[in-house]
Amino acid sequence: MQLITVGTVAFDSIETPFGKADRVVGGAATFISLAASHYVKKMGLVSVVGDDFPKSMLDELRVRGVDLLGLEVLKGKESFYWSGKYHYDMNTRDTLETRLNVLLELDPKLPEAYRSAPYVMLGNLDPKVQLKVIEQMEVQPALVVLDTMNFWMDSAMPALREVISRVDILTINDAEARQLSGEHSLVKAANKILAMGPKYLVVKKGEHGALLFGEDRVFFAPALPLEDIIDPTGAGDTFAGGFIGYLAHTQDHSFDNLKRAIITGSALASFACEKFGTERLLTLTRDEIDERIRQFVDLVDFDIELVEE
Ligand code: AMP
Repeated sequence: MQLITVGTVAFDSIETPFGKADRVVGGAATFISLAASHYVKKMGLVSVVGDDFPKSMLDELRVRGVDLLGLEVLKGKESFYWSGKYHYDMNTRDTLETRLNVLLELDPKLPEAYRSAPYVMLGNLDPKVQLKVIEQMEVQPALVVLDTMNFWMDSAMPALREVISRVDILTINDAEARQLSGEHSLVKAANKILAMGPKYLVVKKGEHGALLFGEDRVFFAPALPLEDIIDPTGAGDTFAGGFIGYLAHTQDHSFDNLKRAIITGSALASFACEKFGTERLLTLTRDEIDERIRQFVDLVDFDIELVEE
């Protein structure tokens, strides 16, 4: 197994200023696995669903190389459910409801083949569960990436701090970076967060791109200006999936390669916004991703000669 992902596999109800979708498939681990599948061929998924979860979606994951031995299906139980409503800027949203359902019973037991995976993606989920996954790894992974959100900062901070101290890279959004550090300046926030343990911090800024901090360096990647944003749900997870997928494929964790991984993640995230839920990711091809990466290169390419005073 090259990469294992833990995270929610869920139903989402989403409302944006331009439309609505009721009980579509979502969940952090779903978006991460779909995105990473373009770069990694042997992946494991650690999560739990109820038997209300569509088998067709499990098949979609399987055909993309996602092993589901680590996915528990609980009979007669309901899958994790989240609903949210986006503001007009589509960059901010309110959570309307979070029903943990089966998530309350998740006590992950990693299948033997998962315990020596070199890449571990701790997708957004209860940090106590994320810890249990790290603790079951028998071989020290080459890279552990953690994604989390304000929900867990509000409800499980001690466990979250423990996970943060044990990962190589943390990805969170700008508001979460401020909440976690108590600093408004993102530079100061990054310094405080890096002192908590991770070697690198990725700050996601939605339609304003992403920042990479680490090794006393900073890199900024824009988000591709899209003509229509239908639904940004899962963009952060899709970013994380593309990011770790690219790193697992290239096996190079230098700052310069992390920059490439950020562009890859950003390209994938831009597709996730084009349709509700996972719909766009299900038809996405590698050629389309590569073409979009070229657009990113064009977007930031410029030449300048400094003029004399
Ligand atoms: P993103 O838009 O990338 O932040 O991720 C949205 C996804 O996260 C949705 O598909 C939800 O099912 C999932 N989600 C929402 N709240 C939580 C939570 N508290 N823990 C884990 N996953 C969540």
